[in-house]
Formats: sequence, C-alpha cells, structure tokens
Amino acid sequence: MEVYKFGGASVSNANAVKNLVSIIQKEKKEHLLIVISAMGKITNKLEELSAAYIFGQENTYELLEEIKAYHFIILNELFQDHNHPVFNDIANTFVEIEWLLDEEANDAPDYIYDQIVSIGEIVSTKIVAAFLNEQGIATTWVDARNFIKTDNSYKEGKVDWNKTTLEIQKHLVPILDKSIAITQGFIGSTSENFTTTLGREGSDYSAAIFCACMDADSLTIWKDVPGVLNADPKWFAETERIPQLSYHDAIELTYYGATVIHPKTIKPLQNKNIPLYVRSFINPEGEGTIINNKNSPLPVPSFIFKVNQVLISIFPKDFSFIIEENLSDIFSLFHKHKVKVNTMLNSAISFSVSVDNDIAKVQHLIEDLSSMYKVKYNNGLELVTIRYYNQETIDRVTVNKSILLEVKSRNTCQIVMKDKPAGE
Ligand code: ASP
Ligand code: MG
Repeated sequence: MEVYKFGGASVSNANAVKNLVSIIQKEKKEHLLIVISAMGKITNKLEELSAAYIFGQENTYELLEEIKAYHFIILNELFQDHNHPVFNDIANTFVEIEWLLDEEANDAPDYIYDQIVSIGEIVSTKIVAAFLNEQGIATTWVDARNFIKTDNSYKEGKVDWNKTTLEIQKHLVPILDKSIAITQGFIGSTSENFTTTLGREGSDYSAAIFCACMDADSLTIWKDVPGVLNADPKWFAETERIPQLSYHDAIELTYYGATVIHPKTIKPLQNKNIPLYVRSFINPEGEGTIINNKNSPLPVPSFIFKVNQVLISIFPKDFSFIIEENLSDIFSLFHKHKVKVNTMLNSAISFSVSVDNDIAKVQHLIEDLSSMYKVKYNNGLELVTIRYYNQETIDRVTVNKSILLEVKSRNTCQIVMKDKPAGE
C-alpha cells in the first residue's frame, strides 16, 4: 500500500488537477490512497469566512459566493457535461455552510472554525475523485472523518491513535484492496463525530497518520519544488536538491522552520520505518528526495531562515546567577504564553532567547517576565539555522549583518542577526 499527498498548489486550478490525474495515470498504482488538501489558497478564504461569521460581519455571503465561484470555475473547466452529479454534490456541500451562516454564531469559535474550514478539503477531494473516475481511473471517495479520530481540541485535534488505527485497518484497507481511494488531509472527527482540524498545513501529517496506521510501504508528497532543497529558493538563488535525508535531519530541518514538509510528518513514519519521498508535480520524472532511516550526513550545508524574530534577554534584578530555579520559572512562563523558543543561550547572569514576533503573545510574556526579571528585547531580527555548517557558510550568510547571538552545536549553528546600518 502506498499513500500520495497533494497539497493546495497541486490542485489550484483545472490544469493542476489534470496534471495530478496524469501523474496517477503514469504511476498506474493499485492499493493507493491519495490525500488531498483544499484547492489553492481556499483555506485562507475559509478562515476569513469563519472569522466574518463569528464577528457577525455583513460580508459572509459575499465571501461564500467567492469560494463557491472558485470551485465552479474549476468544475466547469474539468467537466464538459454540466449535468454531471458532481455539480450537485458540490452545491449541496456549500448549502450546509449556508445553513450554518443563517444561524447566529453561538457556538465556540474554534468549533465553528473547524466546521467551516474543513469544507475546503471536502470539496477538493470530491472534485478530484469525480474527475479521476471520469478519466477512467476507478476511485473511491472516502471521508477522512470516519478514520482520523481525535479528541475535542478544535483547531488542533490530537489524534487518538488506537481508534484511528482500528478504523483504518478495519474499514479503509479493504477499500484499497479494490480501488484507489481519495481522502482529505487536515481533518478528523471527535468521538461524537464532530469535525475537527489538525492545525494549519496539517495535510502532510494526515498522510503520515494514514501511512502509519495501515503500515504503508511509502508516502510520496508531491510538491512544486524538485525535492528537499538545502535552502528556500525564496532566499537563495542557488539551491541544491538533497537526494537522501535521514529522518533525524528531516526532523531537525523542519523543526527549525524548513517549510517543505510539516514538522509533525516525520515521527509517525520513523516509528514504522516508512520511507518518505518528496517529488515534484511539475517534473514528476525528477528523482526528488528520499527520507529514510539511513544516517548519512547531508552533502551540503542547509540553511533555514526565520525573519521577524525578537531576541529577549532576561537578567535577575539583583544580578544574581541564572540557576535552575530561575530557568524553571522562565520556561513555565514561555509555556503559559505558548511562545516557542527558536534558540537560546544562557550565561552566568543572563538568559537570551529568540522567538517569533507574535505581538500579542510576546507582549504578555514580556510583561509577565518583567515582574520578576529585568528584561531587554530587540525586534526586527533574523534567525538563520545552518545544519552541517562550516565557516565559509557562516561568512556567507552574515555578510553585512551584525550578529547578536550565535549558538553552535556539533552539527547545527544558529545566528540571530540584523542588517548593519548603511556605511558600517
Ligand atoms: N488546507 C489546509 C491548510 O491550508 C491543510 C494543508 O494544506 O495542509 O492549512
Ligand atoms: Mg495548504
């Protein structure tokens, strides 16, 4: 059994959907589960719609019409026959949202969010499944909510692995024995069958859950890049594809912010030793990257950039030492405010951390810290993480930068820096 995952960019218009179908045709797979995200940037639009509804704005129907129109343009291009049942099916799916919008928004916002935002995946998979069938590739549409069982944490459902494994083994594996199946990434359901979502960009994680629970032979994530690259092409003109990567390095790179795969994807695969292929849907013949349990170091240094960083430095008010007790206080405040530490360094009388500048959270954190400590902070910074660094790469990324913090371990170097003022 194999699992393919296609993200929003690979189904963002009719041609993209046709390209997906041609990939399936070429690969001619049996026992294949295809996991798909919402089309293009529809999840963002649905987030807007859900916020508009929750805040009682006037424009909810307008937003819904825009979302519907986007899908119907794709449907009209894909299907000659406008009486094809998929047109009704999609229209009916949107009617459910209309009913919801007719009511007042009395439920908890996170619950509402999941009921609305999940529709993106439902309609995208219905459209692609209908089109695959139309093209002669027998495909069964399955509802991921019957398989991915979560707790009641709306917007960030935690997977119930026992229930999920049971459902997948019992009811999904037999479907895959007969035909290709298509399902949604990103969504699941509670034990009372209310829809949950797993967190933004969670479709990769969904695909990994399906893989782990059915002991798949491999997962392939189809992307708009040739594989895992040693740097984000947004930042570097020259990038190199990494042909093979260990699970360990993949976790490190995604943890530090490489966006090619969702950070939660690797663990379930590693537990079951299932290889992950990252391949290009633009150039499906390309070799891509294989991520598996072979521990060879990366052939080239890899760079991950995070912008909009705040460097927070914390000092005991009486200049006493930073000891375990302070650290424990400090970390519990980070935990309380849900602020993730990107890198940190401590000295005898100070402790410094770099975090994403999520203004509301960071402001509250700093206020809380200030009651016990002297706190200084600097914003507008960049953090670069270099895996398998050498001096040459450090020099290259720090040209015209002043360095505020540098942390090195055997394989990873992290630098917090800012642009040097002109003329320095
Ligand atoms: N459609 C969801 C999102 O955009 C899930 C995903 O694409 O992975 O966040
Ligand atoms: Mg997406």
